[in-house]
Amino acid sequence: MKQFKLWINNAWADPIDGKVMRIEDPATGNIIAEVIDAGRADVNAAVQAAHTAFYDGRWSRLTPKERSLALWKLADLLDAHKEEFARAESDNTGKPYSFVSLGADMPFAIDNLRYFSAAARDTHGNNAGEYAAGYTSIFRKEPVGVVGQIAPWNYPLMMAIWKIGPALAAGCTIVLKPAPGTPISTLMLGELIAEAGIPEGVVNIISGGNDAGQALVEHPYVRMVSLTGSTATGKKIMRTAADTLKRVHLELGGKAPFIVFDDTDVASVAAIASLTSTFNTGQDCTAATRLYVQKGAAKDVTEAVVEAMRGVKVGRQYEDDVVMGPLISGVQLERVSSFVDRARAAGGKVLIGGEKLDMGGGYFYAPTVVVEQDQQAEIIQSEVFGPVLTISEFESDDDAVRLGNNVLYGLAASLWTNDIGRAMRISRDLEFGTVWINDHIPLTSETPHGGFKQSGFGKDLSAEAVNDYRITKHVMIKL
Ligand code: NAD
Repeated sequence: MKQFKLWINNAWADPIDGKVMRIEDPATGNIIAEVIDAGRADVNAAVQAAHTAFYDGRWSRLTPKERSLALWKLADLLDAHKEEFARAESDNTGKPYSFVSLGADMPFAIDNLRYFSAAARDTHGNNAGEYAAGYTSIFRKEPVGVVGQIAPWNYPLMMAIWKIGPALAAGCTIVLKPAPGTPISTLMLGELIAEAGIPEGVVNIISGGNDAGQALVEHPYVRMVSLTGSTATGKKIMRTAADTLKRVHLELGGKAPFIVFDDTDVASVAAIASLTSTFNTGQDCTAATRLYVQKGAAKDVTEAVVEAMRGVKVGRQYEDDVVMGPLISGVQLERVSSFVDRARAAGGKVLIGGEKLDMGGGYFYAPTVVVEQDQQAEIIQSEVFGPVLTISEFESDDDAVRLGNNVLYGLAASLWTNDIGRAMRISRDLEFGTVWINDHIPLTSETPHGGFKQSGFGKDLSAEAVNDYRITKHVMIKL
């Protein structure tokens, strides 16, 4: 069984007041590792390390080129160890090894680091000029300082990279807390960070639960908190952060609509709807969750989607051709299953799935399609975070926009049509941070990812993410 301590000052640290916590493989329920549930004193030690590292300038005062080279080296190291990390990720989350961990998460995480390495050297937006007679003004982009970064369990390593990449590019120092159940790949990153030449104290990694997160958010030396997690946690963190007036960067829940007009190719709609509602077992904040189909195409699209869902192969990490693994935990399995049970009881029609799968252990749930016409139904309004797609019908373009927007969330949406004018109008009117036209989910390192409404604010990925970890300082010089 693997055992990890806390990663502070580029070394494994014994806990001060933390306790041992056990980590399981959701595909079997077996315990695979022991890590530390950091206590308040441990969080404080990590923040002190980041604070010292920030104020002596060992990272923030390096040239952009030096920071960039270290990030590039970290990307090379991650690439060299990708199978090892992908295995650790699959064992801790149940993700299919070939299809998700090694095939999707690792190459994207490595590319994200290479992008942030390049972004560290970007000079865009650094202005100097004379805005008052006799004075020159300079706009300096300063790193925010010590940042507390709190990650979710659905893409543990990739979320760690989305957090540390832009913060390091900006010159910040970091205390990073992975989600309680999925800390392994993030803790493993510590040794690569040291090997890449990133100085001690610049990235500190503390495994732990919500209390450790709370202690991090309360700490007066932490200048900014970046969370990827649920909307409820985002609200709590924002309230706590108000006491010390910290900046907050919140990537929260989603409930993506997938809007299909009757001029669309049914086969591509079915293939992408089934893929993107079941990828990572639907535990994706941008997953397709609400399929709205225009009346004329409803029968064909519904039949094709159900057929495509039937073809989704569910299984354990290393089985051949598996595309969908278990849910992350027993708690999540109960949560998803009770959502579907309530939807059925409220009149939703389950066309396929709607049940737990007995695979001899582990937390498996079947790919599920629920037909529901009531826009206010819980299954349409709430984030399920499982392989569950609802299908509802609409008539006009206005209906599509109204229904698509009618949830608290605003992270991502897609629309499917061959009419370019309609695609442009509707992408303008949808209140979501990303709108895909004739596809769903593709992401790139260069393009911003973040929410509208109760999906939060601040961007991950892209130059905007780096800028979120900077503060502009105006220096004015009398000539
Ligand atoms: P969660 O909110 O339960 O936990 C997220 C993290 O916050 C964990 O590390 C947890 O320990 C920590 N935390 C919880 N309470 C805290 C508190 N009071 N103070 C400080 N930290 C606290 O979320 P989860 O269940 O791990 O992840 C699933 C959620 O994440 C979903 O809602 C999903 O939509 C969202 N998500 C969003 C994005 C995005 O980019 N917007 C990406 C992935 C996941």
